[in-house]
Amino acid sequence: MPPAPNPRTPKRVAVLGSTGSIGVSTLDVARHLPDRLRIVGLAAHSNWDQLAGQCREFRPRYAVVCDPAAFQAADRSAFPRETELLGGPDGVEKLATAADVDVVVSAVVGAAGLRGTWAALEAGKDVALANKETLVVAGPLVTGLAARRGARLLPVDSEHSAVFQALTGYTAADVTRVVLTGSGGPFRGKTAAELEQATPEQALRHPTWKMGPKITIDSATLMNKALEVIEARWLFDLRAEQIDVIVHPESVVHSFVEFADGSVLGQLSPPDMRLPIQYALLYPERVPGPAKRLDWSALSGLRFEPPDRTTFRALDLGFEVARRGGTTGAVLNAANEEAVGRFLGGTLPFLGIARCCRAVLDAHDFDPAPTLDRLLALDRWARAEAARY
Ligand code: NDP
Ligand code: MG
Repeated sequence: MPPAPNPRTPKRVAVLGSTGSIGVSTLDVARHLPDRLRIVGLAAHSNWDQLAGQCREFRPRYAVVCDPAAFQAADRSAFPRETELLGGPDGVEKLATAADVDVVVSAVVGAAGLRGTWAALEAGKDVALANKETLVVAGPLVTGLAARRGARLLPVDSEHSAVFQALTGYTAADVTRVVLTGSGGPFRGKTAAELEQATPEQALRHPTWKMGPKITIDSATLMNKALEVIEARWLFDLRAEQIDVIVHPESVVHSFVEFADGSVLGQLSPPDMRLPIQYALLYPERVPGPAKRLDWSALSGLRFEPPDRTTFRALDLGFEVARRGGTTGAVLNAANEEAVGRFLGGTLPFLGIARCCRAVLDAHDFDPAPTLDRLLALDRWARAEAARY
């Protein structure tokens, strides 16, 4: 007998940041599951050429080139005729809120991802969230908006996906502790003295994950783990004291949840973002997809060690921000984005990234309950401070 046709209609997906590392992995998941996922919109910043290629393959209803100059420069004839080409941040909002979109993949890098994520949640769309900076900048405002609109925030970040998977059937009240794992990055085991002269080229060589440049530098400073502590604090409504970080060089266990009775659940899989992306898009279903499988015969040992907080000062900043909340997340995030840009541009040393963030945090005017406008103003202020540092 022929297999029964799948009665479910495919989920209609919009990808913000489709030309980046997460965006490309998302499209690979969609490519493998055409009867479950349909791409209805794609958005890039300036890379219209790559975007056009994606549109020729997936034939979405909308494509957005966010950068106005690149939108002007884009060759419309490179896009399929059925794809409507939109430009600028308004185009992103139109895509994120379109009636024929069920779920928005938030995969823009940096605080620039906040606008599209916010628009999607405001329209009641489920959001598969890779853009952790959104929660770092405005965690309680974003989770509050999602709750009010009945929209789900489905984590894509591998650690948070692991926690989310382990939490199935439980609530925050059942949890004693969440332990986020991290590879330790390319400089694991190095001393501050050895990192004084670290170059962008060395910092961009990540041992286990292939990602965009900003998060790769964040992984080298451990700022990525700091941002993830803040992300976990808001996403799962935890207290900072309930979150721990452990270095796990193999990147196979993606995090642990310790429950009230002492039981610990972890989630294991090879380092491959297509799994958490697929889980977020098809939650709570598990179906065969493109992600790599664990090779149990090659799995000889899993190591766990405490992070070196003396060398990697960024980590303490994450716990501080998770504890204090208010304006601290927006300030830390903006200072870090600017500092990472300066490090890549050669005007700030590697260890200067965390020092710069510390200085900008200390100089800012703390507000425990800011509005979104206040956070956006502080984002601009912190970037200027970090540029001057
Ligand atoms: P990339 O740098 O690879 O891609 C960034 C994407 O965002 C590109 O599509 C880019 O478009 C677009 N973009 C950049 N700036 C803007 C802007 N101002 N407005 C609109 N779009 C913009 O980043 P990643 O894919 O590595 O990371 C994306 C997010 O996912 C980050 O928040 C990161 O922390 C998070 N994440 C990433 C992981 C990974 O494995 N890569 C793992 C876990 C989380 P264009 O190509 O045109 O410049
Ligand atoms: Mg992560």
